[in-house]
Amino acid sequence: MKVLVTNDDGVHSPGLWALVRALVPLGQVVVCAPDREQSAVGTSITLHVPVRARQVPSPVEGVPTWAVEGTPGDSVILALDHLLDHTIGLVVSGINDGSNLGHDALISGTVGAALQGYFHGLPALAISVTAIKNMRYDVAAPLAAQLVRLVLEGRLSQESFLSVNVPNVPAEEIQGVEITKLGRRSYRDTVAEGHDGKRTYYWIKRAEPDWRLEPGTDIYAIERKYISITPLHTDWTCGGQQPNLVGLVPALEAALRDEFEPSL
Ligand code: MN
Repeated sequence: MKVLVTNDDGVHSPGLWALVRALVPLGQVVVCAPDREQSAVGTSITLHVPVRARQVPSPVEGVPTWAVEGTPGDSVILALDHLLDHTIGLVVSGINDGSNLGHDALISGTVGAALQGYFHGLPALAISVTAIKNMRYDVAAPLAAQLVRLVLEGRLSQESFLSVNVPNVPAEEIQGVEITKLGRRSYRDTVAEGHDGKRTYYWIKRAEPDWRLEPGTDIYAIERKYISITPLHTDWTCGGQQPNLVGLVPALEAALRDEFEPSL
């Protein structure tokens, strides 16, 4: 069984290779990742143009490495369904530069790649460090290796996949590990308009996120320098009992009767 390593920061990202180096002692590692930065593409896959991939030299001996001209999701699909002959047993995505907390998990390419592994029925995890400069992988990489070891021992349920966020601090400052749910944290996207001489263009820019510090959430864990492990699955359903939905069905049915059976 092989471990697929992928990411959304591109196949040359230092975080990916820190992860690979930590996993190599555990078994055969293969890399299939976008050839360039693909952060925030979420679960996007490419269906309307061909996807190209090529093998590239690996900085770590014995690790076959593919660079994909596509998204993280494309990379996982290519690896699982074609390039690696259905020998992958586990998908690990990261180590991402930047947190994937709260609502970010829903657009994260790092999480999107792990999600493709989950779609394929494989254990999968995404791992991110909560900083974008002065990155350190000396906690996240061995942590990923320990999680992979537990997966290989069959100790983690496959009913979910995991999004792991690691504070960007030395090991001695880490307070512990918490299993969390997604907190409420979303970026305020702003749009800046400009002109390139011919046409108008727009830059979507991300302002500082709005967030709420609620116990039990990934945000709360990270704020207190805990490692956050958020189990994710694909049931976004939140039930029909919210106050604003109670009464929707009879009201809608009444409206439809009026619409389609005006004579009754
Ligand atoms: Mn990224």
